[in-house]
Amino acid sequence: MENFTISLVCLFCNIELKDDISKEYKSGSLIHCHNCGEDNDYDSVIEEAKEKVIKNVKNEFDKSLKNIFKGLR
Ligand SMILES: [Zn+2]
Repeated sequence: MENFTISLVCLFCNIELKDDISKEYKSGSLIHCHNCGEDNDYDSVIEEAKEKVIKNVKNEFDKSLKNIFKGLR
């Protein structure tokens, strides 16, 4: 299984919020996007990031399953 890194992405312009994740954010914080200037709700950004990771894991899992079934034939 690969490791998946969680990247926080701006909800408005989809650009990775790189500069700001080194700062400490708490629930309810706003993460300022340097690209579009919007403030992202921390909780929503985390939710979005989590969903992406779940999707990636699911895709990887599906791929592994397919390979397993190929091997069985
Ligand atoms: Zn943005």
